[in-house]
Amino acid sequence: MNKPIPYGRQNISEADIQAVVDVLRSDFLTQGPAVPTFESAVASYCGAAHGIAVNSATSALHIACLALGLRQDDWLWTTPITFVASANCGLYCGAQVDFVDIDPRTYNLCPQALEAKLVQAEKTGRLPKLLVAVHLCGQPCDMAAIHSLSQRYGFKIIEDASHAIGGKYKNEPIGNCRYSDVTVFSFHPVKIITTAEGGMAVTNNPEIAHAMELLRSHGITRDESHMTHPSDGPWYYEQTTLGFNYRMTELQAALGVSQMQRLDSFVAQRHALAKRYDELLSKLPLVTPWQHPDSYSGLHLYVIRLRLKQIHKTHRQVFEGLRAQGIGVNLHYIPVHTQPYYEKMGHDRSALTQAEQYYAEAISLPMFQDLTHAQQDQVVAALHQELTP
Ligand SMILES: *Cc1c(COP(=O)(O)O)cnc(C)c1O
Repeated sequence: MNKPIPYGRQNISEADIQAVVDVLRSDFLTQGPAVPTFESAVASYCGAAHGIAVNSATSALHIACLALGLRQDDWLWTTPITFVASANCGLYCGAQVDFVDIDPRTYNLCPQALEAKLVQAEKTGRLPKLLVAVHLCGQPCDMAAIHSLSQRYGFKIIEDASHAIGGKYKNEPIGNCRYSDVTVFSFHPVKIITTAEGGMAVTNNPEIAHAMELLRSHGITRDESHMTHPSDGPWYYEQTTLGFNYRMTELQAALGVSQMQRLDSFVAQRHALAKRYDELLSKLPLVTPWQHPDSYSGLHLYVIRLRLKQIHKTHRQVFEGLRAQGIGVNLHYIPVHTQPYYEKMGHDRSALTQAEQYYAEAISLPMFQDLTHAQQDQVVAALHQELTP
């Protein structure tokens, strides 16, 4: 059998390779000029004031939570339909994590469910300190509604835009932080642009940016204006907080700078492929991704939902059938509250029924910039075979 068609895959050009090789021949493999260049490229693309590049989106989420003051006994709320990293960042800070159900059309965190939960939490004195809004598949959350609730109930917002670089919300780039404190991107190879591993936090707040810079590199500063003692000499640096080594390398940053030049065309290619899937799948017993008119998705993922009542197979049988036909389908995501590590914290599953319903029906089809029409036709044919009696 041919190699299976993966659900996601990076696009690497000769220019990308050259950019990395150039760094290998240069003086700096880390802590050189490429990282700040990449930070400016992403921040200015998004219309954010500051970019802090790190070794993963997971690290970016961690330092963003810390910089926003998340501590022991605080609550972080997020959606259950996300990668575990969106929730784990709260636990890293000693905070507790809770989940808000999803909107059945966009599969993003539902603002009505959020409001209802906030009303309850206010009564019991358990309001969240921080909300992580995940732009699932690249489609932005209803940020205006979430932001207005944050004003009323006093919580901070991180946008987990790991799926969404290159997308827009109300005609403005995702990452401009108009409705949030920090936005985080991932550059893992399955995402829209890649640095192999890598992530970035962008913000408009200079204090938050400075705090994240310190946390990225051991809590150490070499900037005298941030020191508490007079300098002992040219070697002097100060550790002023407890940080980590979350730095991105020059190799990764150079690859990122090179990839940024193709970001818009990557997202446009994804949209053309999504449109083609929408048309080719319209007669099958499944739901294609609904797009809110306010959003231009980054389209990291193309998720279908099976209409199981019209199909004489289980979700798992369809999934396994597609895999057996060489289609590298996947499932994004297993609801985080059902993971054994989270399950024992005892979340109220009856409040998360939309998320669990989604999990029972969702399948991610192959979606990446280099997916050919022939491969896409293969995916569609395989689905026809699985779904028609
Ligand atoms: C991929 C992903 C992450 C983690 O990204 P890394 O760069 O691999 O750490 C976090 N959140 C979401 C929604 C993701 O898809």
